Amino acid sequence: MKRAIYPGSFDPVTLGHLNIIKRAAAMFDELIVCVSVNSSKSAGLFTPEERVELLRRAVRDIPGLERGRVEVDSSPGLLVDYAKAHGAKAAVKGLRAVSDFEQEVQMAVINRKLNPRLETMFLASSDKYTYLSSTVVKEMARYGADLGEFVPREIVDAVNQRMRELEGTEGKEG
Ligand code: ADP
Repeated sequence: MKRAIYPGSFDPVTLGHLNIIKRAAAMFDELIVCVSVNSSKSAGLFTPEERVELLRRAVRDIPGLERGRVEVDSSPGLLVDYAKAHGAKAAVKGLRAVSDFEQEVQMAVINRKLNPRLETMFLASSDKYTYLSSTVVKEMARYGADLGEFVPREIVDAVNQRMRELEGTEGKEG
């Protein structure tokens, strides 16, 4: 069984992520989308548990995909340890631009040193989504833009609602 991991922050999952998920899932028997719980990053829009839940909603009904082919999980530790524990042969990364490349290649080299059996595979972003990041989504949500073109439709309401809650609290505090 060939299993791969697609790690990231997914705060929240975007259509760019979903595009990589579908393409990677077609290449392996199982793809584990893994929310990396990164303690050095500041608190996000969603907690890691919520991101997992939103990802599960987004991947539930991918057309043409059998059940079990995409799993969603989270991990506080190192990717290489998670990969070893789950018998994964590859880590999948999406590349949008040269700016992604530098950091991702550095991580790939480090991960290879830590676990030479884990290959990192890069999938070039679909041209439709090269501009798209979770940060862009958060900006759009803040200004009340229609999120339908940016995130899976199953999670549009959740993102809008969370942004309204946050704006409400910030307003009260300020
Ligand atoms: P971001 O917050 O920048 O969207 P993530 O950590 O959630 O980043 O991204 C997880 C992985 O998905 C990374 O490998 C990243 O390069 C990739 N990725 C993010 N957005 C896209 C996109 N629009 N197209 C292709 N790959 C993407």
